Parts: sequence; C-alpha cells; structure tokens
Amino acid sequence: MPKANETVLEIDLRALTHNFNYLTSKLQSNTKFLAVVKAFAYGSDAVEIANHLEKLEVDYFAVAYTREGVLLRDAGITTPILVLHPQPINFETIIERCLEPSIYNAKVLNEFIAVAEQQKQKDYPVHIKFNTGLNRLGFWENDVDYIVSKLKATSAIVAKSLFSHLAASEDPNETEFSNRQINSFKATAKEFEVKMAYKPWLHLCNTSGVINYPEGHLDMVRCGIGLYGFGNSASEDNNLKPIASLKSVISQIHMIEKGETVGYNRAYTSKGFEKTATIPIGHADGLGRHYGNENGFVFINGNKAPIIGNVCMDMIMVNITDIECKEGDEVILFDAEKKASTLAESSGTISYEILTAISQRIKRKIISS
Ligand SMILES: *Cc1c(COP(=O)(O)O)cnc(C)c1O
Repeated sequence: MPKANETVLEIDLRALTHNFNYLTSKLQSNTKFLAVVKAFAYGSDAVEIANHLEKLEVDYFAVAYTREGVLLRDAGITTPILVLHPQPINFETIIERCLEPSIYNAKVLNEFIAVAEQQKQKDYPVHIKFNTGLNRLGFWENDVDYIVSKLKATSAIVAKSLFSHLAASEDPNETEFSNRQINSFKATAKEFEVKMAYKPWLHLCNTSGVINYPEGHLDMVRCGIGLYGFGNSASEDNNLKPIASLKSVISQIHMIEKGETVGYNRAYTSKGFEKTATIPIGHADGLGRHYGNENGFVFINGNKAPIIGNVCMDMIMVNITDIECKEGDEVILFDAEKKASTLAESSGTISYEILTAISQRIKRKIISS
C-alpha cells in the first residue's frame, strides 16, 4: 500500500467480502441477508459498497432516509431497498424510485395507502415495523387488528415483511430483555399471519443479533456494523476486518519552548521544549472536538501521538516530542489494526459514530485487490 500523502479514507472491498462471508456463515441457508447501507454505508461510500454487495448477491438493502435510496437508484442499484425511516412528503418519490417504505404508525400507513391508491398501484411492497421495546419507531403489538383491517381494505399495498429491532443485542446483561423482544415479535407475527392468512417475511436481528440470537434470525437479518468490520465485542472484532482506514499526513512540524501554547483558546501549554505536528483533518471532517485535549490520538511511524489543544475545523495538532518523523510522513487515525473503535472509546463514543461522522469532503480511495 503506498503511503498516504493527503487525508484519505481507504475502503477495502476485500475486507467487505470477508465480513459478508463471515456473517452469512452464521445463517441458515434460507435466511436472507439485508445490508444496511445508511449514512453513506457507515461513513464509507454507499454506492461502492452497494455495488460490491450486489456482486456478492445480497438480498436487500436498507437506508434510513428516502434520499439515500434515491442516491443508490441513481447509481444503478437494482436490488430492493427498504427505507427504514421515511416521511409522507417523500411517498411519491418512494414509489417512483421503487423504494420500499417501513410503515411504522397509523399516519404513515394511511398516507402511504392514499398515495399508492392514487397512483393505481397493485400490491406495492411495504414493511410493517413493530415496537417490541426499543420505543423508537413502530406499531404496538395490539395494533394488529387495525393494520389488518387497513390492509384488507386495499389492494394497493402488500405487507412484504414484518420487522422489529432489538434494543440491546450486543449486551450480555440484557439477554432476558432481548429474548422477550424476540418472543413478543414472534407472537405478533403469528397473530398477523392468522388474521391475514399469509406469511410475510419476518426480520429482527442486526449484527449483534445475528451473532448472539440464532433463534431470532427468522427469514432475514439486517446487518450494518458487522459488514464494516466491527462486532461490538473484542472476540467478534477478531472475526471481522475493518474496511475503512483513515489516513493523513504531517503538514508542518513546530518546535516550541516550555510555556508556549498551542491552538485556539491556548488550550494546550507546552511542558518543556516540545515538538508538534499539524495534520489536515478537523471537526469539519468528522473528528469532533471531544477528541481534543489529549483524549484522541493518531499514529505516526508506529508511535502514538496525542491530539493537543482544541480540534480546529480543518486541522489538529499532535505531540510528537518523542517521535522520529518529518513533514510529509504518513499519519494513521485508524486502520485494520489500529481500530476506529479504540479511538472512539478514547472520547466516550462508539465505532458507529466515528465511522458515520467521516465527512464527505474526505477523499475516498477504493481498494479491491
Ligand atoms: C441501523 C439499523 C440496523 C443495523 O444495525 P447494526 O448494529 O449496524 O448491524 C438494523 N436495523 C435497523 C432498524 C437499523 O436502524
């Protein structure tokens, strides 16, 4: 791999293939795989990731918002796309672009039926979301009669799947709660099947659900973070490969005397004769201010260099007093070994946030061989 000479997010499609194969190896052969590619495929590149997963014959995609689905359709993605969190204002676009909405409450159900009927749709696929304890989106279990009455009264839409979402699938202390969610979802689905006299697909598990709750795999699973190389535990992290590496370069080195200060608001004071490096990545790139003041760090020539002072919009300064390096040397924020999750934890956050924060102005470089 040539060394980075500007700030770049490298995306390794070979690691994506590995993660896809690892996650699907956990499934029974008839369980379908939905890849969650919301938020630019967790901060990487939604189109590149979706294209690659299409080649691997993924069954479904999911995005959060309608315009994320439109982006994939514009790029030529033809696999079905579930929109997890659509708004009624986008329902015409959803139909026009062959996107499939999550129907999470009565307002959304009624408004989607109205648009589908007005457009003379027949059996337009929708996905009914049930709330089993996350208390975020979804119908209540006792809404089944209402949903069934609405579905029976129209031929414009059909419930292709029923789904729910686990609140704490990665937490070994919450197995009782997760099992309760799984059982209550299965009971709701059963009731729906009896009343509608057909079986929609059922899906419930995210990445940690796939790993920890085989009895919850049902007809399809929905994986995001695992595809991108993180398993929400040390042991599962070892089975997965991070696909994204965030690299940069030393722009300038400063030698400063004891007592001098570094950066905005003079937040860092030198403890002696020190050496600092300025690196072109800042909070506008997704490296938030919480990484400043020696919470976060970078790696230069294998050595850890803490971020000193406040994170600026377009740059950070790091302490390289004991590190042999020069202007133009490569800087690693995270890669396959120096994990993004470790950097995230340095400032009280999680892999999901650091990955999805990486801003669109950072160049993406796709590695496929
Ligand atoms: C984001 C999301 C997922 C993916 O979760 P991971 O933990 O990243 O695998 C699955 N289902 C829903 C409803 C989501 O919002």
